[in-house]
Amino acid sequence: MTKRALVCGAGGFIGSHLVNRLVNDGYWVRGADIKHPEWNASPADEFLIADLRDPGAAVAALEGGFDEVYQLAADMGGMGFIHSAETQIMHNSMLINVNVVQAAAEADIERYFLASSVCVYRDMELGEAELTEDDAYPALPDNEYGWEKLYAERAVASYAREGRFQARIARFQNCYGPEGTWTGGREKAPAALCRKVAESADGSIDVWGDGSAVRSFIYIDDLVEGVRRLMDSEMSDPTNIGTREYVSVKQLAELVGEVAGKRVSPHWVEGPVGVQNRNFSNDRIESLGFQPKFDLADGLARTYPWIKNQVVSS
Ligand code: NAD
Repeated sequence: MTKRALVCGAGGFIGSHLVNRLVNDGYWVRGADIKHPEWNASPADEFLIADLRDPGAAVAALEGGFDEVYQLAADMGGMGFIHSAETQIMHNSMLINVNVVQAAAEADIERYFLASSVCVYRDMELGEAELTEDDAYPALPDNEYGWEKLYAERAVASYAREGRFQARIARFQNCYGPEGTWTGGREKAPAALCRKVAESADGSIDVWGDGSAVRSFIYIDDLVEGVRRLMDSEMSDPTNIGTREYVSVKQLAELVGEVAGKRVSPHWVEGPVGVQNRNFSNDRIESLGFQPKFDLADGLARTYPWIKNQVVSS
């Protein structure tokens, strides 16, 4: 029997890559989003334009019956957006999550996947030991985006406890790759740095902060592999999906320069940086056989040319 999957947020970066993967895996897929994917026509069997802040739209998205629901729709962006759009995030993303999880619970689905984030964790000291998934509590996320994700996790887990469906909750690390947001204010650090380097004739670029913040980035194909492994597993607890490769923002800028063949000289300017340090356990996802295939240099070598192309043709 062909499995049926609903992907909410199918017009976005990760959602559109996930739809490709599910179609390749033999699923019948309905995508739902407030917009179509920006770069390519969705290969989904059906694509529903739906504002999931509307409860009726969420019910309509679930019509027809599904085995699996992947909930990735969110009002979303990098640090600049997260710090400037707090009420928008709290209002829009919360309504989306409330509506989709309720509609899924009423639609008798088997499994519900939620895209959460490592933004649910508190800030860390440099050199601090890894945080495991259980260390999300006592909770102290750095921003409202993280608090909204925690709420969504708890909502999904409560429906699962009632037996309405099985829950799979992933906490994504920063994801990057081709066909991600690269300009306009919602882009994340890897895409923003690729764009700035591509635009700069002499390699001088403005970068927020002082370059010392530590981050980990996961390439899109690896993240989608992690999502599929988690969904197919029996792991019902929240699960980090990321890599063990950590770099400072300064090192990230240098790596982008190497990939671009430019000598990058960053000017450190004031801007929203977010937490200072990250160090998360990936033991849980790795216990499901997951290993990232792309290190940061490989992933950037696939991402930079795509962003450079956008810059040139814009
Ligand atoms: P994205 O912005 O590209 O995708 C989100 C999609 O949700 C967009 O296509 C958007 O149109 C859609 N959406 C927004 N409001 C909607 C509404 N009212 N109704 C229907 N659709 C709506 O973001 P992404 O990077 O693909 O992220 C996907 C998910 O993964 C999000 O939940 C995000 O919070 C989570 N996440 C992403 C990252 C990352 O690094 N990209 C990291 C952690 C968690």
